[in-house]
Amino acid sequence: MTEKSSVEIFNENYEEIKQKIKTAAEKSGRKSEDITLLAATKTVDVKVINHAIESGIDYIGENRVQEFLSKKDELIDCRRHFIGHLQTNKVKDIVPYVELIHSVDSFRLAKEISKVSLKLNKITDILLEVNIGKEESKTGFCAEELIDNAKLISALEGVRIRGLMAIPPICENGEKNIKYFKEMRKLFIDIRGKKIDNSNIDILSMGMSDDYREAIENGATLVRIGTALFGKRDYTKK
Ligand SMILES: *Cc1c(COP(=O)(O)O)cnc(C)c1O
Repeated sequence: MTEKSSVEIFNENYEEIKQKIKTAAEKSGRKSEDITLLAATKTVDVKVINHAIESGIDYIGENRVQEFLSKKDELIDCRRHFIGHLQTNKVKDIVPYVELIHSVDSFRLAKEISKVSLKLNKITDILLEVNIGKEESKTGFCAEELIDNAKLISALEGVRIRGLMAIPPICENGEKNIKYFKEMRKLFIDIRGKKIDNSNIDILSMGMSDDYREAIENGATLVRIGTALFGKRDYTKK
C-alpha cells in the first residue's frame, strides 16, 4: 500500500467517524466534544500518523513499547497515550513520554509507575483496566476487586486514577458487547461515587472500530479506533 493511499483512506474514514461519533453522542444526550477520539496507531507509519494529527486528531495511542519508542521522536505535537499491556520492567521507558496509561492491570504495575513518576517528579494519569468479560486470556482487574484496588492505588504518590478502560470479548455481532459496556458504565458511576482520594475520575475508555458507536451510546467518554480510521493493519511491515 502506498503512502498516498493510506492518507486518502484516513481522510475518508475520519470524516465518517466524526459524524458517527456525533450521532452516537447525541443519542446518549451528549455532544461530540464530550467524546475523545483516540487514534490507535499500532503498525501505522509515522508519516500517516502525523498527517492524522495535522488533520485534527489530538490523541494517539500506541500499545507496544518498542514501536512507541521508535516513533516518538518523529511524531509531531499531540497527546500521547499508552494503551497496551505494560510489563513492569518497561515502565521507565514509557512514563517520561506519555500523559495517560490506559492499561493498568495490577497493583504491582501501578506501584512501579508510581516509583518511576516520583523519580521524574511527575504525576502520571492512569486508567484501571477491567477484565469485564472475565477472560482467562486477558489481564485486568475483575469487577469485584476493582474498588479495593483503586483505594490502594490511590494511596500511591505519583499516580492519579482518571478512570476505567476495558476491552470486551471479541464477538461476531456488536450487540453482545452492549452488555459489557453497560456493566462498565455501572462500575464507572460506582467508582466515581466513592470519591476516592487523589483521583479525578472522568474517563471511561471503551469501544474500538467495530463497536465504538455502541460504546458511546452506553457511556464511553473515550474511544480507541485503529482499523476504522487507518484501514486494515499490515503487520508484515515492522
Ligand atoms: C489496536 C487497539 C485498538 C484499536 O483496534 P481497532 O479494532 O483496530 O479499532 C484499541 N485498543 C487497544 C488497546 C488496541 O490495542
